[in-house]
Amino acid sequence: MSDEVHEVIIIGSGPAGYTAGLYAARAMLEPLMFGGYMSGGQLMLTSDIENFPGYPKGVSGPEMMLHLREQAERFGLSIQDKNVERVDFSERPFKVFVEGEQFLSNAVIISTGAEAIWLDAENEKAQKGRGISTCATCDGAFFRDEEVLVIGGGDSAMEEATFLTRFASKVTVLHRRDTWKASKVMLDRANAHPKIEVRPFRQIKTWLSDDNGLTGAILEDPRDGSTEEISATGAFIAIGHKPITGFLEGQVETDDHGYIISKEFTMTSVEGVFAAGDVVDTRYKQAITAAGMGCQAAIDCERWLEENSH
Ligand SMILES: Cc1cc2nc3c(=O)[nH]c(=O)nc-3n(C[C@H](O)[C@H](O)[C@H](O)COP(=O)(O)OP(=O)(O)OC[C@H]3O[C@@H](n4cnc5c(N)ncnc54)[C@H](O)[C@@H]3O)c2cc1C
Repeated sequence: MSDEVHEVIIIGSGPAGYTAGLYAARAMLEPLMFGGYMSGGQLMLTSDIENFPGYPKGVSGPEMMLHLREQAERFGLSIQDKNVERVDFSERPFKVFVEGEQFLSNAVIISTGAEAIWLDAENEKAQKGRGISTCATCDGAFFRDEEVLVIGGGDSAMEEATFLTRFASKVTVLHRRDTWKASKVMLDRANAHPKIEVRPFRQIKTWLSDDNGLTGAILEDPRDGSTEEISATGAFIAIGHKPITGFLEGQVETDDHGYIISKEFTMTSVEGVFAAGDVVDTRYKQAITAAGMGCQAAIDCERWLEENSH
């Protein structure tokens, strides 16, 4: 067990974490990153990124994450691809526990991201990224003139549906109830759109596919179990995201859904602990916004360390 005290430990290696690492390393803070077992984050699962500036021809997720990692490492970011099991923020230096070892740090940046909630319908795993997505902003443009489904009954489902009408020839919104979390204005807008059909009491039983990808789904009416088939080449699940904050065991203030609440710029409810990316972001959830917040957190952290150095 080492008693070395690091200046900053960064938890998570998505766009937010690597950007925080780049800035902290260039500020000579010698940051240590625990990148997690899902090193590289959510974008490791996606083949085409067309909306991250600097890649005029697009780039694959894993390739882009490798670039971010190499750039931060060039300035001295030290990375261990391990999960943080728990933290102790009750006193400084903060304690971070990894595979039974304890690490000490004057400051911590949390960038552990969020996971989209999936339906877990039959055949879903095989079609993830092959027609089924959880991000219309990211993948909508791949479905030009095609028929797509949106699953969900909240504002984000309505937003995704409206956004998808720019590309798709038809958008069917499926919701398992006839009560909606979506605001009336969003629901009315979706209902009034000529390309959108909103269908309550329909849930996905099985995803259908062939060698080229998704072909549709078998829908079930939860009231009586009756089924029908619908055809679609794309589907967007919009039933929410789950931020990864369980390992914090409530030591940092979060909202009801587990998103970390920023108190002063990127600082959390614990002085010296900062957060960036999807773990705080209830609205944008993009690689570029996560990277931007990673930059902000590193600058806030650097200034805080300067003002609070012992
Ligand atoms: C399929 C898919 C396609 C997408 N396509 C696009 C796109 O085209 N353009 C776009 O802008 N956005 C896209 N997004 C959204 C984008 O991936 C996220 O907004 C972005 O990755 C968020 O970055 P982040 O750094 O906050 O978190 P993440 O990328 O989620 O990274 C979180 C990191 O935290 C680590 N971690 C978690 N728990 C622990 C722990 N206990 N200890 C240590 N590490 C931990 C994980 O291993 C991971 O490295 C897509 C998302 C998905 C799922």
